[in-house]
Amino acid sequence: MSNGLPKKRIALFGSTGSIGRQALEVIDANQDAFSAEILTAQSNDDLLIKQALHFKPDIVVIGDEKKYGVVKEALAKHPIKVFAGEKALEEVASMDSYDMMLAAIVGFAGLRPTLCAIENGKAIALANKETLVVAGDIVMKKAIDRRAPILPVDSEHSAIFQCLVGETRNRIEKIILTASGGPFLGKKPNFLVNVKRDHALQHPNWSMGNKITIDSATLMNKGLEMIEAKWLFNLQPDQVRVVIHPQSIIHSMIQFEDGSIKSQMGLPDMKLPIQYAMSFPRRLPNNFPRYDFRKPATLSFEEPDTKTFRNLTLATEALNKGGNLPCVLNAANEIAVFAFLRNRIGFLDMTDLVERTMQQMPYIEQPTLEEYFDSDGEARNFAASLTKI
Ligand code: NDP
Ligand code: MG
Repeated sequence: MSNGLPKKRIALFGSTGSIGRQALEVIDANQDAFSAEILTAQSNDDLLIKQALHFKPDIVVIGDEKKYGVVKEALAKHPIKVFAGEKALEEVASMDSYDMMLAAIVGFAGLRPTLCAIENGKAIALANKETLVVAGDIVMKKAIDRRAPILPVDSEHSAIFQCLVGETRNRIEKIILTASGGPFLGKKPNFLVNVKRDHALQHPNWSMGNKITIDSATLMNKGLEMIEAKWLFNLQPDQVRVVIHPQSIIHSMIQFEDGSIKSQMGLPDMKLPIQYAMSFPRRLPNNFPRYDFRKPATLSFEEPDTKTFRNLTLATEALNKGGNLPCVLNAANEIAVFAFLRNRIGFLDMTDLVERTMQQMPYIEQPTLEEYFDSDGEARNFAASLTKI
């Protein structure tokens, strides 16, 4: 890094996504601190090529093997290695040529490469919350064994992480995750039943990838974040609370044993938690817009409506019971969101599909990694069979 420190070499897994693109903006603005060594995309070859020509990484990976030729050809004049396919993601994650992985692939697909990076003792800036939802116990245990730091990128968890600086000896009484409530805050099932894809993709405060935008509208995102928080901060389920805070200025809070509450605040902008995860323990100056207390503003808080947004109840059940249930919930939810985005099922059907899958799948109290993969596959198949009815 600057100050005579070497540059941190970043591997951006999911560089063409919302988080990946914002991380590249941070890298571009801090070229003395960071370099982009590895870029990966699933199918967006155009953007991957543009990014590679600009950042000159050591390696790029395109998930879709049919696009290998196009990417290889476009980068032929440059000393950039090109790989393709799912296995290549794991092989590249195991290489020595980088220091930190930004885990910004969406969904279960992010788990295997992240595990490879942890196995090799790499620092992980973790955006891909599904990794911890699916196999949090195994991931965290491996991270401790391999001394691989996991730095949260998710804004709520970054807030908690920032509040914990200087508090290592102090017990957390509870953490309070803030939720914007999404575009349908205050709405009831008679409204939600008619919600269509394009409406659900309009988030009031954040601009994000499609899957997490739908998860925010159904509150499943907050449910996944409760489970993510449990693993990141080693909490009991009853220490994790959720409060609706529609303005998204307070990014989350910790209450300590003396009743003192610390929060982290700022405008909703993912570049800040991305930058913090990459530069920790330092803070880097930037010119992102600042929150201005002189402008009239109300910060409000309310209880989530768990009767309407039942995903939060389902996720709480998965959080409490543990085992393979969070993995099953996640798999069914990925299928549900995929089907909703293709207009195959309605907005409220997503929750029914997750609930029925959770009821149907056999419970395993302490799954092995293979059993997590199997649970994921079986839950996907079952959930997919429900979308065809
Ligand atoms: P996007 O959908 O915008 O980007 C996903 C990235 O992953 C893209 O680079 C995509 O490639 C790649 N990808 C998609 N499917 C696969 C696959 N099967 N195998 C390998 N790569 C794949 O997602 P976001 O950036 O919004 O989210 C990424 C992660 O970060 C998610 O887990 C999300 O929950 C989390 N997160 C996101 C936030 C946000 O503000 N966006 C906030 C907090 C957390 P391609 O472009 O080629 O499809
Ligand atoms: Mg979040």
